[in-house]
Amino acid sequence: MRIVSTLVVIGCLGVCLQATPDPVTPPSRVIDAHVHVWEPIPRTDAFRRSLQAAFDAYHLQLGVVTGPDALISGVVALAPNRLRGGVVYGAGYDLPSVATLQPLFDAKRLAVLGEIDAAWRGERLDTEFLEPYWAMSETHDIPVFVFSGAAPPGTAFQSCCPKYRTRLGRAEVVEDVLVRHPRLRVNLMQAGWPYRDETIALMHAYPGVYADLGNLAGNPGIPREEFYDYLRALITAGLGKRLMFGSGLSIDEWQARIGDVIAVVNEAPFLTTEQRDDIFYSNAARFLRVTDAR
Ligand SMILES: [Zn+2]
Repeated sequence: MRIVSTLVVIGCLGVCLQATPDPVTPPSRVIDAHVHVWEPIPRTDAFRRSLQAAFDAYHLQLGVVTGPDALISGVVALAPNRLRGGVVYGAGYDLPSVATLQPLFDAKRLAVLGEIDAAWRGERLDTEFLEPYWAMSETHDIPVFVFSGAAPPGTAFQSCCPKYRTRLGRAEVVEDVLVRHPRLRVNLMQAGWPYRDETIALMHAYPGVYADLGNLAGNPGIPREEFYDYLRALITAGLGKRLMFGSGLSIDEWQARIGDVIAVVNEAPFLTTEQRDDIFYSNAARFLRVTDAR
């Protein structure tokens, strides 16, 4: 008996002196900074009720949904106190004029400019066409959500996007916009993956820039270890207070898939409890100036 106890103690010396990892529990509050709507949503009470039940189940305080302007008001109406809308610019999606958009922002029918998918049209973010939109957003303190990183495999061969090029997703295409508009509040959607050094350099040099993790966690095209390595690199670089959870899901698939996406981020083995809450809630609350979320 004594021998066994001694072995247990000796065996413990290597392991038991290590810090005990924080227990992983589901997040108690979530802001999903990256939700899409591409197709008209079901206009039924059953859909609205089941979506709201999923919001409750996963403790969603706020979701930012971006899509064509014709669809946004219908989505936000599903849960006006928990959803904010953004207008998309991308392949096949033109932006309404600044004169048209400004009253929608003033009336809070829109909350963010984006997702701005200029790369999918073969354009840089500092293209001349977008300049008045950046100026409007800076002047009126509107957060802008811009595509960064890499599009899905084969995007340039799709009929929508023959002009797409990977170089247009690199963080450097944002830089001249930031210099011209120093008060612009920018969210790098997809956190610039896989351009890790450039993303870290940009976020280091421009401390107002935030990034969301949309489309990275739970993406079958991105191995789990790669996602974790990337997330850990951003945190190790000191950016943990500017990373926001984003699912990258469409609103009509949100309730079926959000649990898995949350779990992938939540179970990242290197995160502390504080870092988890920063990513799932606090950073986005700061960036979006949330004061009235549920
Ligand atoms: Zn997106």
